[in-house]
Amino acid sequence: MEYLPLFHNLRGQRVLVVGGGEIALRKSRLVADTGAVLRVVAPQIDSQLAALVAASGGEPLLRGYGESDLDGCVLAIAATDDEPLNAQVSQDARARGVPVNVVDSPALCSVIFPAIVDRSPLLVAVSSGGDAPVLARLIRAKLETWIPAAYGQLAGLAKRFRAQVKDRFPDLQQRRVFWEDVFQGPIAERMLAGQGSEAERLLQARLDGETGEVKGEVYLVGAGPGDPDLLTFRALRLMQQADVVLYDRLVAPAIVELCRRDAERIYVGKQRADHAVPQEQLNQQLVTLAKQGKRVLRLKGGDPFIFGRGGEEIEELAAHGIPFQVVPGITAASGCAAYAGIPLTHRDYAQSVRFVTGHLKDGSTDLPWPDLVAPGQTLVFYMGLVGLPSICEQLVLHGRSSDTPAALIQQGTTHNQRVFTGTLGNLPKLVAEHEVHAPTLVIVGEVVTLREKLAWFEGAQAGL
Ligand code: SAH
Repeated sequence: MEYLPLFHNLRGQRVLVVGGGEIALRKSRLVADTGAVLRVVAPQIDSQLAALVAASGGEPLLRGYGESDLDGCVLAIAATDDEPLNAQVSQDARARGVPVNVVDSPALCSVIFPAIVDRSPLLVAVSSGGDAPVLARLIRAKLETWIPAAYGQLAGLAKRFRAQVKDRFPDLQQRRVFWEDVFQGPIAERMLAGQGSEAERLLQARLDGETGEVKGEVYLVGAGPGDPDLLTFRALRLMQQADVVLYDRLVAPAIVELCRRDAERIYVGKQRADHAVPQEQLNQQLVTLAKQGKRVLRLKGGDPFIFGRGGEEIEELAAHGIPFQVVPGITAASGCAAYAGIPLTHRDYAQSVRFVTGHLKDGSTDLPWPDLVAPGQTLVFYMGLVGLPSICEQLVLHGRSSDTPAALIQQGTTHNQRVFTGTLGNLPKLVAEHEVHAPTLVIVGEVVTLREKLAWFEGAQAGL
């Protein structure tokens, strides 16, 4: 091991930064974050850097560097593009036993900056010893996606309960088991889901020796429109910890594959006529599974709160006092629009966008047609394929021109994506001509014309 990683407490300590430009600013920001007092020396100092120095309670010195600038400093950083000067700072600091870092010159450094994942008070530092900083940064990026943003709050929770836990479990081994349980179980999950007071309550109950009934929980998670890359970090994390997964036809198989290997998978159908499990029964099933103490993942296509009946499912959970959390997903409108090169709003064409269900109950009467034909808006129809002839007809009848541009996007964001553009007048014909199937999204409005310029994703139409 060429370097010893240590975490340096710099609060209230003076740190010398030689250099007044962009790089000096970047390093100074990090240093100032720890509560250090900055002394910055340079003939010219960037205004943001000057402000940072002032905020740290330090002094900007607008002149060349002199050895005595190191007086009283516990760390020195040389961040100039003047190599001899950087070397001088390094030599002076080493002679005095002050740790020194010279930006981009590992040979001149006695200490080096790692790539940092900051979940304060939890910190992860990654270093390649200056040999391959890009590699260290790539590892950092992986860790960033892997460590939930609220992990720091988990550490805060542990801090608040530390003394109490120590009293309750004087034995080190017992204490370790207790904390492992807390950090890997429902208490941590509450914290990460932004339910801090509930996490505290559960922790307190556990300390008070209440065993209570084993309660499971439900994660209502949006799986996005199809491309697995569009999952959120949280969705993926919960997918990998759930004991049982209930998914419907809209969730792409590639996404279901990302769930924990040994999780039980239950297909619950759901698409127009194909209601493999009726909604009421499904709501009940979630309750039953959670009551068995399981972590239940209800995985839904797109966003669970947009035409997803997510609300109905969690109402039932709430009624039974079962803990749940909701994870938003990219809804079909956003996903399909982006992958088809059709911005949903545009200063010149559409100032608003409306998501509409095309699943008409009694013919076409239950949609507010006069509102839907107002100018300057984009309409996005979900579940609009079967009712499409009627939708197009009603829009025209209520005053929207039959020349209004419109698009059909089938299996948007996946490699099977197909997009067809036309007008309100000929859209139903396109469906028959190209054998368009569900899931398909319909976008109506002038923005559709932008696709000509903005299409970027090829999908199944590659090479057409
Ligand atoms: N909760 C989902 C929508 C469920 S309604 C969401 O937020 O996206 C089901 C309808 O969504 C389908 O009939 C179709 O119109 C649309 N849809 C969902 N995924 C789609 C996709 N990948 N491509 C095209 N349309 C999609």
